[in-house]
Amino acid sequence: MQKEREIIEYLASEKEIGLEELNLLLKTEDEESIRFLAEKARQTARDIYGDHIYIRGLIEFTNCCKNDCYYCGIRKSNPVSRYHLTEAEIISCCERGYDLGFRTFVLQGGEDMRDTDEKICRLIAGIKERFPDCAVTLSVGERTKESYRAFFRAGADRYLLRHETADKAHYRTLHPTAMSFENRIRCLYDLKEIGFQTGCGFMVGSPGQTPETICADLKFIRSFAPEMVGIGPFIPQKDTPFGDQPAGTLSMTLRLLSIIRLMHPHVLLPATTALGTIHPRGREMGILAGANVVMPNLSPEAVRGKYNLYDNKICTGAEAAEGLMALKKRFSDIGYQIAVTRGDFIGKRIRKPRAD
Ligand code: SAH
Repeated sequence: MQKEREIIEYLASEKEIGLEELNLLLKTEDEESIRFLAEKARQTARDIYGDHIYIRGLIEFTNCCKNDCYYCGIRKSNPVSRYHLTEAEIISCCERGYDLGFRTFVLQGGEDMRDTDEKICRLIAGIKERFPDCAVTLSVGERTKESYRAFFRAGADRYLLRHETADKAHYRTLHPTAMSFENRIRCLYDLKEIGFQTGCGFMVGSPGQTPETICADLKFIRSFAPEMVGIGPFIPQKDTPFGDQPAGTLSMTLRLLSIIRLMHPHVLLPATTALGTIHPRGREMGILAGANVVMPNLSPEAVRGKYNLYDNKICTGAEAAEGLMALKKRFSDIGYQIAVTRGDFIGKRIRKPRAD
């Protein structure tokens, strides 16, 4: 306990911990230490964000994708019924979301090359024109710097692009050769340079992940200083090459949420859908471990089941935007309230030059 406590205190002073210390925090079975880690992280989030939880309306607007990531249920080679929402359908999701209290819309999708820059820019501008008090977050994968610049000019505020792993060899085992680690990192630095509030992140327990690769992830997060970090457990999807791999665990995900909160106190840190999928109270536990964002699903009901990144993904009840009342109740039971606000990053924006 003493050793773990020291490491946690050290982390909380925003210092970098090494592989050995990280290993101890990830593996310790000492209940008191596990509780202490979550408490420290929760208190750090509360000192900055109070009892507010930020909500984002997630619109999964297309499951068409040219990529073939080995972990992902909407990969090109998977037998999936494909869809793409029209601009009118997306706007109507936003209208419904706005009435429910959402002030951020996240447009997420596969890399669908029919989505030209012009189309995406028109969509962003259309949303910003109708909802000028809302933030637009994009999560549409890797593009050129020019495209990102165009999206920013059209009014997009934030961009989520998980780096997936900061270990190059590990990256290779998660993706086909058509994709590269260098390009993904290039994208992240471009996004940040352009001025987006930028989010990176990774799956917890992805096949091949080790304490070393996690250490590299944390190092990357420390040097990149993103405004958002998305982490959730890896969950197998049966038709993918990783269909028979074990899922990431609740305990590991919660510990990493806490570690990231302590390393990077102001970060916008969601308790993800995947966390809510592996445990019915996963999102509450995520909040209690230092997360401060949730992203309920605003996609039309007819397509929700088709954005199946992994098996058994939750998309009804409190996960769905209509279940917001239920979610409010669940958060108020643990001492938090949902904030009707854009929920921007409020820390100091750090833009360091890229490491290469
Ligand atoms: N095309 C976009 C959005 C990808 S989906 C992009 O490339 O950024 C969003 C995230 O879901 C991915 O970044 C990945 O980390 C996560 N994801 C994909 N498959 C998953 C799985 N089987 N289990 C858990 N998370 C998964």
